[in-house]
Amino acid sequence: MENIDIWNKGLSLIKKNLNNEIFDLWFKSTSFKSFTNGEINISVPNRYCGEWLKTNYYSLIKEALINITQDRDIKINFIPDKEKEKENTEDVKIIKEASAKTSLFQEKRMLNRKYNFENFIVGPSNQFAHAAALAVAENPGKSYNPLFIYGGVGLGKTHLINAIGDHVVRNKPDVKIIYLTAEQFTNEVVAAIRYDKMYAFKEKYRNIDMLLVDDIQFFSGKDRSQEEFFYTFNTLYEAHRPVVISSDKYPKEMLNIEERLRSRFEWGLIADIQQPDFETRMAILKQKAEIENIKLPEDVILFLVDAIKTNIRVLEGALIRLGAYASLTGKPITVELAKDILKATISEKEKTITSDAIQKATADYFQIKLTELKSKKRTKNLVMPRQVAMYLCRELTNLSYPEIGKYFGGKDHTTVIHACRQIEKIKEKESRLKDAIETLIKALKA
Ligand code: ADP
Ligand code: MG
Repeated sequence: MENIDIWNKGLSLIKKNLNNEIFDLWFKSTSFKSFTNGEINISVPNRYCGEWLKTNYYSLIKEALINITQDRDIKINFIPDKEKEKENTEDVKIIKEASAKTSLFQEKRMLNRKYNFENFIVGPSNQFAHAAALAVAENPGKSYNPLFIYGGVGLGKTHLINAIGDHVVRNKPDVKIIYLTAEQFTNEVVAAIRYDKMYAFKEKYRNIDMLLVDDIQFFSGKDRSQEEFFYTFNTLYEAHRPVVISSDKYPKEMLNIEERLRSRFEWGLIADIQQPDFETRMAILKQKAEIENIKLPEDVILFLVDAIKTNIRVLEGALIRLGAYASLTGKPITVELAKDILKATISEKEKTITSDAIQKATADYFQIKLTELKSKKRTKNLVMPRQVAMYLCRELTNLSYPEIGKYFGGKDHTTVIHACRQIEKIKEKESRLKDAIETLIKALKA
C-alpha cells in the first residue's frame, strides 16, 4: 500500500461515521503530506481547521488509521497549509479593516435602537428578566453568563435583548457587539461554508465583546449551526465575554438541540417573561399610544387590554390599525370601531384550535377510535397517532405539557415531552408522517 492511500482509506472510514455536511466541511480539504516513523502528517487549510480536528475528531481519526496501519501507537499531526492560510488571513484583514473604517463595529447597526430600557415597562411578569438584563448591560462580563431570556411570542424578548445592546453601546461606543437572530447566524454559517470563508467567520466571532442571539429555538434541527454556535459560545465564554440568548422555548423543551448545547444554556441564568397582567398591559398600551401619537379614549384602552392578553405585539397591532383607520376616515376611535378591527385580527391570527378538535381530526385521519386515541393502550397502531395528536396540541394550542397530558387520559407531562420529541425526530426522516402532519394542520386551521 502506498503511503498516500493510508489517508484516503482512512477518510472513507471516517466518512462512514459522520454526516456528509460535517465530513465535507472538515475533511474534504485535508490531504496527505507524509508518513514517517509512525507519524502521519496531514495537510489542513489552516491552523483552526487543525485545532478543530484535533479537539473534536482525534479519536475517530486515530481509530480509522489504526484500523488501516494496524499500528496502535500511530500519531497524527495536522499541518496548516501555508498558501491557503495566507488566503484566509487576507479575508480576516479585509473584515478587520472594514470594521475599523466604520469606527462603529459594523454589526452594531443591526441593533434595533428603538428598543431600550427607558421604554420598557416593568411589571411583575417581566421584573426578573428586566433586572437580569440590566445587570448584564451594566456589568458585562461580570454578570450572569450566558443570560437566557425565555418567554412566549410577543412578550418582549427582542425588546429586552436589544435594550442590553443599546445600554452597552451608550456607555462604551467602541464596544464590539453583534446582535442577530439565530436564523441570520445560520445563514452566515451556510454562506461561510459555501464560499469557503469559515476561517473569516470564526475570526469575526472570536473578536467581539458581546454576542446577542435572538430566537435561538431556530437552531432546532440545524446541526451544523449548532456546532458552530457551540464553538463560538465556548470561545466567548472562556474569555468572559457575555452571551445573551432568547428563546420562546425553555432549554428542556427545545427539540432537536444537542445536549451539550442545551447544557451550556443552563450554565448561566434563565430568566423568564410571563404573560403581563392587566396593569402592565395597560401601561404598555398607553405608552405606545403616546409614542405613536394616537389618542385613545379610556374605554377603548380598557376594551383592548381586556381582549388581548397573551401577546403584546398583537395589542400593538390593534392600536396601529385603529390609529390608521381613524386618521384615514376622520372618525373618532370608539369601542365599536375597536371591536370591528379586532374581529379581523382575531379571526386571522387567534382562531383557537382546541385539543378536542385535534384529537378528533387525528383519530379520523388514522382511522382509529377517539376513545382509543385517548386510552392507555400501547399497541403500535395507536402509539404513533397519539404522539402526533400530542405534538399537534403543543404546536397549535397554548396548552402546557401537563395540560396536554390531562387531555389524553391523564398522562404524565414527560410522556408528552417524549411524544413531541419523537415526532419531531421521525418527521424529518419520514415524508409520509410529515405529509400527514401538514395535512392535519391545514385541515385544523381551515
Ligand atoms: P418577542 O421577541 O418576545 O416575540 P418583542 O420583544 O418583539 O417580543 O415584543 C413585541 C412588542 O411588544 C414590541 O414592540 C415591544 O416593544 C413590545 N413590548 C413587549 N414588552 C414590553 C414592555 N414590557 N414594555 C414596552 N413594550 C413592550
Ligand atoms: Mg422576538
